[in-house]
Amino acid sequence: MTSFESLGLATPLLKALATEGYTAPTPIQAQAIPYVLAGRDVQGIAQTGTGKTAAFALPILQRLAENRRPPARGGCRVLVLSPTRELASQIADSFRAYGRNMGVRVALMFGGVPKARQTRAMAGGVDVLVATPGRLIDHMQDRTVRLDQTEILVLDEADHMLDLGFIIPIRRIAGAIPAQRQTLFFSATMPKEIGQLAAGMLRDPAHVAVAPVATTAERVEQGVIFVETARKRAVLFDLLSGNQGRTLVFTRTKHGADRVVRYLEESGVPAAAIHGNKSQPQRERALAAFRSGETRVLIATDIAARGIDVDGVTHVINYDLPNVPESYVHRIGRTARAGAAGVAISLCDNEERSFLRSIEKLIRGRVPVIAAPGQVARAA
Ligand code: AMP
Repeated sequence: MTSFESLGLATPLLKALATEGYTAPTPIQAQAIPYVLAGRDVQGIAQTGTGKTAAFALPILQRLAENRRPPARGGCRVLVLSPTRELASQIADSFRAYGRNMGVRVALMFGGVPKARQTRAMAGGVDVLVATPGRLIDHMQDRTVRLDQTEILVLDEADHMLDLGFIIPIRRIAGAIPAQRQTLFFSATMPKEIGQLAAGMLRDPAHVAVAPVATTAERVEQGVIFVETARKRAVLFDLLSGNQGRTLVFTRTKHGADRVVRYLEESGVPAAAIHGNKSQPQRERALAAFRSGETRVLIATDIAARGIDVDGVTHVINYDLPNVPESYVHRIGRTARAGAAGVAISLCDNEERSFLRSIEKLIRGRVPVIAAPGQVARAA
């Protein structure tokens, strides 16, 4: 399995990743990080939820550290363009988190708030500026930002930029950055206009891609059981009694995971939990027992499950539905690996119905309603 060490990331980054609880790179990270470290332009097809932010942020931070120099006044060494303020804030937070041991200066710039503070934040120059295109153009016109010494340009969610009418601003912004920059271009889809935009901005790019989330979902046999919150435990127990496979159970919170483990143990089902509050040796023990088949039930939270790589998971049970729909696809993608069959069953209480609707929108299909073991299905 690829590790962050084997990708060539430096110690301060590895430490920050350990703090974040990331144990292994996601596929887009494993693919993109070596190219970015080597200074190549990259064209990536990846959706939010695949770990694409770290796929560019980690190697960029390393490149900044390898070649330390002060940023130009009013300038940035790295510019990340993002279509929305929410995404921009998340990206800035990620750079701060991953760069916590490196002393990086990160600034954030989006519309709808006064410009003065953003201007002040830029005055001395920053390492990384994350901006939405409209507001950045405003600052360029005001001459409160300069891009003539920027070394790396990242364009995130390019297809969304197109939807929002940002293509012309993006071309202007890219035109203000020296041509010998490194450019990283990410989009969830690659329609013709986006392909053309990429072709005009990238030089001999490396191509990386991860499967769109919808295709993962298609390979897994899915079902949802509508159940009251208080009955979830009993239904989980029945589901586990009805299959002898290797089952990964997801809960939304760490405490939820611990409660499920306690209940199962009391009911005579050996189970273990992995989540952020467990020490590294505890996690490793739980994983080893799961891999060897000693415990066939592992309870995990989304973040803890990201890094784990276990083959032969036959069942995924969503004890809680995730509030981030992409997490659903990640969860169910833990089964049905390498063409094997897999089953994913979700327990949905009344409050989670809106989560289910968001999931169905993302995967562009209905999750069939099934009966709890021993009951007849009722329509939703
Ligand atoms: P993104 O696709 O960049 O929006 O990332 C989705 C989520 O995955 C974020 O909450 C990240 O913190 C998390 N994440 C990214 N990379 C990893 C990793 N290697 N291991 C665990 N979690 C990760």
